[in-house]
Amino acid sequence: MQLSEDQLTLVATVRDFVKREVMPAATELELADEYPHALVAQMRELGFFGATIPEEYGGSGVGAETYALLIEELSKGWMSLTGVLNTHLLVAHMIDTFGTPDQKERFLPAMAQGERRAALCITEPDAGTDVAAVKTSAVRDGDDYAVNGRKMFITNGRYGSIYAIVCKTDLHADPPHRGISILLGEKGPGLDVVRDIPKLGYRGVETTEIAFEDYRTPATNLLGGTEGEGFRHVMGGLELGRINVAARSVGVARAALEAAMQYAQQRQTFGKPIAEHQAIQQKLADMATQVKAAHLLVMDAARKKDLGQRVDLEAGMAKLFASETCLNVAIEAMRIHGGVGYTQDLPIERYFRDAPLMIIGEGTNEIQRQVIARNLLRNYSSGDFLFEAGL
Ligand SMILES: Cc1cc2nc3c(=O)[nH]c(=O)nc-3n(C[C@H](O)[C@H](O)[C@H](O)COP(=O)(O)OP(=O)(O)OC[C@H]3O[C@@H](n4cnc5c(N)ncnc54)[C@H](O)[C@@H]3O)c2cc1C
Repeated sequence: MQLSEDQLTLVATVRDFVKREVMPAATELELADEYPHALVAQMRELGFFGATIPEEYGGSGVGAETYALLIEELSKGWMSLTGVLNTHLLVAHMIDTFGTPDQKERFLPAMAQGERRAALCITEPDAGTDVAAVKTSAVRDGDDYAVNGRKMFITNGRYGSIYAIVCKTDLHADPPHRGISILLGEKGPGLDVVRDIPKLGYRGVETTEIAFEDYRTPATNLLGGTEGEGFRHVMGGLELGRINVAARSVGVARAALEAAMQYAQQRQTFGKPIAEHQAIQQKLADMATQVKAAHLLVMDAARKKDLGQRVDLEAGMAKLFASETCLNVAIEAMRIHGGVGYTQDLPIERYFRDAPLMIIGEGTNEIQRQVIARNLLRNYSSGDFLFEAGL
């Protein structure tokens, strides 16, 4: 794969940041579950929060392919940092794609600077995969909407300051997804970050529960200005989110593979490095093959997105394969490390704790399979089969 000069420069910048700043700090912050304020400030300086936001709003305007490269490198250092970027840039992408000119002007410049970071509030206690089942209501009241409901697992909920709230503006719509809208909101009375949810991995970055109780946001903050378009907006945004999750899976998997390669050549048993035992070689071969394939799937999805195509199929495949690869490579790296891989002396146990998030977040892998199959069957019946379309 040929990278452009700009992409090579970006990759070198992220690698340098990861080596100098992230690696020395990640383990301590992660184990303490402490928010990485200093690293986030440096990510702002480096312009990461404006990566995919168009230049006219102060961002860098890079495409999905370059963005995926950034995420992969950053995740190789510490996956949690990519979570701070994900919903932020996903919300920016939705505002840029579906927002009114006024909404773009009001939100995107501060978001591009990372001055204000965004959270995407879809999930609720009784609605995750089934997005159309959200119950959070938004009722028009004069120039405002009054929002009531509860959101779960909201990344950036505490340290972010812009909220894209997926809600029902019509509770009786048939089918229910037609009643969904997205309201953009800011911190204010009625928006209460109830708690930070403790987690297995992906620590250091807050995952929050948020209650909305007669929370008011102006009607001019209805994304796109028309009610009932929210489901389409979310699905459009999730394409980029799935590329992000796939790319972060590849980053963690690469980190685990690299650690395993190094350790296998240094650790001796029965008079020789374990890398010389065939059982370990077989593992390394499978791991590297899977990681390479996952990377290529991510690049394929990102490139097609950059060509302006809908990539539900490709982003679904990339997310499914890369996240399952990540999980497998993380456990294999732990096996190769033996006992020391299970300890907090090395980051292997962190990779192992971080990996499962990727099979759940941005749509579980069960749902990815349904998205993939649905698109495959539709394309096939319209004569556009995967391989004939020039895979
Ligand atoms: C650390 C973390 C951060 C998160 N950040 C955010 C965030 O910032 N914003 C946000 O909105 N959400 C966020 N989420 C929520 C995440 O997107 C959801 O957890 C995920 O979509 C799954 O929803 P659920 O947990 O309600 O599972 P459920 O929907 O209850 O699913 C439970 C199980 O049933 C399966 N299942 C459900 N329906 C089907 C079906 N039709 N066919 C087959 N299997 C099915 C699922 O695959 C899963 O295995 C986060 C979650 C975590 C853990």
